[in-house]
Amino acid sequence: MKVQIEDKEFSCFLEYEQIKKRTRLLGIQLNVDYEKRVPVFIGVLNGSFLFMADLMKEVHIPAEISFIKVSSYHGQDTTSGTVKSVIGLDIDLKGRDVVIVEDIVDTGITLSYLVDVLKEKEAASIAICTLLLKPQSLQRELEEIAYVGFEIPNEFVVGYGLDYKGLGRNLRDIYRFVSAPSET
Ligand code: 5GP
Ligand code: MG
Ligand code: MG
Repeated sequence: MKVQIEDKEFSCFLEYEQIKKRTRLLGIQLNVDYEKRVPVFIGVLNGSFLFMADLMKEVHIPAEISFIKVSSYHGQDTTSGTVKSVIGLDIDLKGRDVVIVEDIVDTGITLSYLVDVLKEKEAASIAICTLLLKPQSLQRELEEIAYVGFEIPNEFVVGYGLDYKGLGRNLRDIYRFVSAPSET
């Protein structure tokens, strides 16, 4: 199956049934690892909204669920040119076991920033649960990545929360970029 979004064509890469199966296993692992603790699952918006919803249906231990957003804007006084900030972090994380829920880890830059922010809040532990990971693209050492749905090649993907130009988040399956459609 193929979909076209704006100027690009995408073909099916991971079907929802596969995602659900894998998510169920991640849930089982989390239930075991966090038994007797009350973790806080923190989803990173917007991309994680569907994964979080499906993952939480597989988590049967007491848990808190919250969402944040990492915003980037271009500043002029940093070497990277990009300044980030975290929006919506309104839970006291001191002494808590935090699980960050992400749609995808690409370079890892966003997450390593987020982990640093959460460490300042004195969480007891921080783990990352990401649906997708692009190992070849990773530029940061992130020992916190404990739960990975699928390792994927270094290709642009869309659907199931992930967008292209703001579109495609509502697609049920995950698609990968194939080509720009031929001109007609
Ligand atoms: P990172 O900081 O790890 O490079 O990636 C941060 C963000 O880039 C992800 O949360 C996601 O929003 C976006 N991103 C990275 N790779 C992809 C991709 O293949 N498809 C889409 N739609 N977004 C991506
Ligand atoms: Mg994300
Ligand atoms: Mg995006």
